[in-house]
Parts: sequence; structure tokens; C-alpha cells
Amino acid sequence: MKQIGDRFFKPYIVRKQIEERIEALGQEISADYEGKEIALISVLKGAFMFTADLVRSIRVPVDIHFIQLSSYSAEQSTGKVTEVIGLNGLLAGKQVLIVEDIIDTGLTISVLHKKILQENPADIKIASLLLKEDVYSGSLKIDYLGFAIPNRFVVGYGLDLNELGRNWPEIYQVNN
Ligand code: 5GP
Repeated sequence: MKQIGDRFFKPYIVRKQIEERIEALGQEISADYEGKEIALISVLKGAFMFTADLVRSIRVPVDIHFIQLSSYSAEQSTGKVTEVIGLNGLLAGKQVLIVEDIIDTGLTISVLHKKILQENPADIKIASLLLKEDVYSGSLKIDYLGFAIPNRFVVGYGLDLNELGRNWPEIYQVNN
């Protein structure tokens, strides 16, 4: 059991499961993009660890970009998305792959998807480590999904609670 403030977290998705799933995703992505180059957009901060592991399993050329958006305050979606770090206008004609840590309501990914569409890429696909499938109300297809999870707060492997827990090597679920 781990603790942040007065909240307790229990192990949920362990290292071996994460590694195996990411290796499988990397193989799937490598096959789908064979002969192409990926313009990968990693959504900071939460996707940094997933991105680092995923790109090492991808066998086609990858050009890595980072963007930061914010839609979450503590454990509740605020429903507001603010861009923090912008795109550089380099995505025109590119095969864009968005890499997210977790998709909850889908608000963040839909705003980001719209923004990237304005850059006129050739194609946009989405990879997310986690999806809260009972909460997701978006219409976008999640092309590469690590794990579908129930609507319970998770921390670790890049995901935080008030900026803590991102360094935990595995995914923990709130214990209540
Ligand atoms: P959405 O816009 O899809 O509702 O929310 C997506 C964002 O909310 C994620 O990028 C993440 O920052 C945050 N989020 C949603 N659920 C969780 C969760 O269970 N744990 C953590 N740490 N963040 C979450």
C-alpha cells in the first residue's frame, strides 16, 4: 500500500503487465506504420513514462513532440482545458500519433484532436495507456489502448495526485 497525503493506494497494474502490453502495442503500431514515419505527440505530464517505454518498442522512425494541457484539478475533472505548451506548426502532412496517459470523459483528447486537425496532418491516431470506458463519452476511436479500467482514481507510472506519485513504477488504484 502507498500513501499520498491521507489517501491510500493499492497495487493495480503491475510492471510485467505494463511491459507486456506496451511491447504488444509497439508491435501493432510498428506494423500499422510500416514504411512511414510517425509524428508522435506526447501529452505532458502524465504520458511521459508511457511515452518513454512505448517509443522504445516502436520499430519505425518516430519524431517526438510534447504538448501540455490541463483539465484536472486534484481528483475531479474541472471541465476546462487550457493549453500550456503549444505545437510548433510542424505537423502538416504528417502521420500524427497522440500519446495519452489516461482518457476519462474524453474532453482533453477531443480538444487536442481538434487543435491538431487545424495543423492539417495526413492522419491522426490515438494511443492511450488507460481508458475509463464507463465514463468516456467521446466519439473519437482510441486506436491503441493499454488497459480499459473502471472509474476509480489511479496513480503511478506517470499519473499523479496533486503532482505526486508520477515516479511510482507501477499503477496503483485508490483504496476506499
Ligand atoms: P478527460 O479530459 O478525459 O476527462 O480527463 C483526462 C485527464 O484527466 C488525464 O489526462 C489526467 O490528467 C486526468 N485523469 C483522469 N482520470 C484520472 C485518474 O484516475 N488518475 C489521474 N492521476 N489522473 C486522471
